[in-house]
Amino acid sequence: MKLLEHEAKHIISSFHIPTPKGIVVNPGDDLVDLPYPYVLKSQVLTGGRGKAGGIRIVKSESEARENISSLFNLSIKGLAPTCLLAEEKVDIAREMYVSVIINRSLAQIELLAHNEGGIEIESHDSQEFFRTPLTPETSEETGIRLAEFFSAPEQSFALQDLTQKLLSCVIASDATLLEINPLIITGDGKLVAGDCKMTLDNAAAFRHPEWDFVDPIVSSNFVTLNSSGNVATIANGAGLAMATVDAVIDAGLQPANFLDIGGGASRETVLDAFQHIVTFPYISAIIINIFAGITRCDEVAKAILDASSEIPNLPKLYIRLEGTNSEEARKLLEAKHIPLYRQLDSCINAAKEDISS
Ligand code: GDP
Ligand code: MN
Repeated sequence: MKLLEHEAKHIISSFHIPTPKGIVVNPGDDLVDLPYPYVLKSQVLTGGRGKAGGIRIVKSESEARENISSLFNLSIKGLAPTCLLAEEKVDIAREMYVSVIINRSLAQIELLAHNEGGIEIESHDSQEFFRTPLTPETSEETGIRLAEFFSAPEQSFALQDLTQKLLSCVIASDATLLEINPLIITGDGKLVAGDCKMTLDNAAAFRHPEWDFVDPIVSSNFVTLNSSGNVATIANGAGLAMATVDAVIDAGLQPANFLDIGGGASRETVLDAFQHIVTFPYISAIIINIFAGITRCDEVAKAILDASSEIPNLPKLYIRLEGTNSEEARKLLEAKHIPLYRQLDSCINAAKEDISS
């Protein structure tokens, strides 16, 4: 489950990680009580909002009104904001990048940092990152090394403190990603989280009653494997989902994710999956591999069609739907010019041909 910036900032600020003072703006709300100039930020589950015009600095009441209405009407990478975040404007001296991730292959938490924050991090060479395991025992020392890496000796204490709090926050929140980009050094030398992305582990929802925004029925098991991958995968059942990922790799493509949508593939589940997928920048194909036993293929096909009509610029779908009512599903999809493949191989090969042509 990916959080919006304002939700993520709410959590990190409860761990006393400094964030700018902010107020959520819902459609129809009155103007917020912040001194001008302040910043209006579109709340969508994707990065690159700055580049896409989703971040506005407003200097007056009339500019605020104008920008609130234009931001609500601006879709970013196909996503329309349901709310905005108004924040006091931060005086930026420097922007860096820091994140805490779970390295699944090494089974450890890691801290990543880069000297240049603000811009999309995928554009950086992996060699340029500071990358280190992060544990409660070493977090203070990691903060010291981070200050050296940033050549920011004056912020050494603040970075030690930040490193410890980031780790505590990730562990206590069952987060699989916590990214602060930019991490700002202000004109008067303070550290502030300028932007925050956070992904929570849906499987831990049972022990977080405060996650009222995670619908345990809708939530599915989405694992990012490689955010620069070119193929997204959707399957039902963990075994079939793993086999799908393996087959994509065998075909020489790069799967961006693993996703088990579970038993009932409802419109919400599929929509949730598509919304995740469109946040990956390099996806050219979505492979859907469903074996419907109790689930009915025509219901799944309807869910896919409904969800895809809600997301513009969705990458092309390559679907294998087998099992109960698969003929009805074929008719529904073919009416929308979406072919259904009999075998996973032919499904992946079709995607591969389209990608390489
Ligand atoms: P993103 O583009 O979706 O990652 O959105 P960010 O929240 O990271 O904002 C993008 C960029 O807008 C930042 O890197 C800053 O350069 C700029 N920006 C955002 N908030 C402020 C602010 O309060 N003051 C100033 N001067 N710039 C800001
Ligand atoms: Mn950012």
